[in-house]
Amino acid sequence: MVDIMEYSKNGSIEIIVGPMYAGKSEELIRRINRAKIADLKVLAFKPRIDKRYSKDCIDSHNGKQFPCVAVENTEEMMSVINNENFDVLAIDEVQFFGEEVIEVCQELADRGKRIICSGLDMDFRGEPFEVVPKIMAIAEQVIKLTAICMVCKTPATRTQRLVNGQPAKYSDPIILVGALESYEARCRNCHQVIK
Ligand code: ADP
Ligand code: ZN
Repeated sequence: MVDIMEYSKNGSIEIIVGPMYAGKSEELIRRINRAKIADLKVLAFKPRIDKRYSKDCIDSHNGKQFPCVAVENTEEMMSVINNENFDVLAIDEVQFFGEEVIEVCQELADRGKRIICSGLDMDFRGEPFEVVPKIMAIAEQVIKLTAICMVCKTPATRTQRLVNGQPAKYSDPIILVGALESYEARCRNCHQVIK
């Protein structure tokens, strides 16, 4: 994967997208490591599901990690950003932040920072995932990765949600109490959403 933004002297936005298991976090960590080798200061964030602000890690399913700050929202992210000097801002799981994250990326890129986001471009229904398509539109570089379809072994662009082993329904709530849930990568043909 060519890191064209490494050659840019201007601020910029890169976004790494694709389904679960596509290697988005792996690619984000690779770009962060290269930036660090180039003596750039990197600040990394991910959304925090519970309320506490804490030190955490960007985790790839292949076991690679990079330390980050887990924040509840962009306000918390900005309070860290405002107290630090940095060159590169990395945000993993960007789909879980609200609309304000778009403005944060734009403003910091306008101020000369390199922004690298990573996130799901589609939800389990195969529909555009909240802020991600909007960041894709304003980014200098979009890196769209595929996983391997767990049914037919071709490149997978979608995330299959399974509830008790069966394809989830379109109307299923995001949190299903008491159900056994799992996700797998699937291609367009094998991806199923029960209407
Ligand atoms: P993402 O951030 O896109 O969910 P990760 O970087 O966490 O992806 O994980 C990528 C790793 O997941 C791959 O290097 C591979 O070892 C593993 N993996 C597990 N299942 C699959 C799959 N179906 N297709 C591709 N890689 C997979
Ligand atoms: Zn398939």
